[in-house]
Amino acid sequence: MKIIMLGAPGAGKGTQAIMIAEKYGIPHVSTGDIFRANIKNGTELGREAKKYMDQGLLVPDELTVKILLDRVAKEDCQKGYVLDGFPRTIPQAEVLDKALTEMEDAIDVAVNVDVPDENIIRRMSGRRACLSCGATYHIEHVPPKTEGICDHCGQPLVLRDDDKPETVKNRLKVYHDQTQPLIDYYAGKGILRTVDGTRSMNDVFAAIVEILEK
Ligand code: AMP
Repeated sequence: MKIIMLGAPGAGKGTQAIMIAEKYGIPHVSTGDIFRANIKNGTELGREAKKYMDQGLLVPDELTVKILLDRVAKEDCQKGYVLDGFPRTIPQAEVLDKALTEMEDAIDVAVNVDVPDENIIRRMSGRRACLSCGATYHIEHVPPKTEGICDHCGQPLVLRDDDKPETVKNRLKVYHDQTQPLIDYYAGKGILRTVDGTRSMNDVFAAIVEILEK
C-alpha cells in the first residue's frame, strides 16, 4: 500500500502518517524528518536545507526529489510506505509518478487531511518537537508524559524554528501557492480522499482506516 498524506503544515498529517505506518507495518517516510536528521548530523544537505526551512520556504526540488527517490528505493519500502510531506509541488508529484510508472507501480491513495488556516495557526503555536528522535507533541492535544521532555528518548522538547508564528504564516502561504494544487492533481487521478482534520486524532485516524480498508 503506497499512501500520500496531503494537508497544510500543522494539519496533523504527520501524526496520522505515524499511526498508519504502525498499523500497517510500512515505513513512515517524511522528507522533513530526513532534512532535520541531516541538519542534526551537520551534513552539506542539512546546511543547504536549513536555509530554506528556517524561513518557512520549500527546499528546492533538485535536493528534495533525490533524497525521496533514494529512500523509497530501499528494501523496506518495497511493500509500501506512507509519504508525509512529499510531494509538496506539482513537479515533485510528476517526478514521483514517473519513477513509479517506470517500475509499473503507482500511488494507491492520497489522503487529504483538511483543516482551516485559523485552526492551524492556533495548533502550531502549541507544537513541540524532539530534535533528537523526531517525535512531535502538542501542549494541549498530545502532551508528553513529563512537560518539556520527550516520552521516547528523554531529550528536551522545543518549539521548532519553523513552527514559530512568523514562519507558520509563510508556510501557510507557501502551502496555498505550491502544495494545495496537488489536491486537484490527485483528484484528477481519482485517488484523492479527504478527511475532516478538525476532529480528534483518533476520529481522524478511524476515518482514514475506513478509507484505506474500503
Ligand atoms: P515538515 O516536517 O514536513 O513540515 O517539513 C519541514 C520543512 O522541511 C518544510 O517547511 C520545508 O522547508 C522542508 N520540506 C519538507 N519536505 C519538503 C518537500 N517535499 N519539498 C520541499 N521542502 C520540504
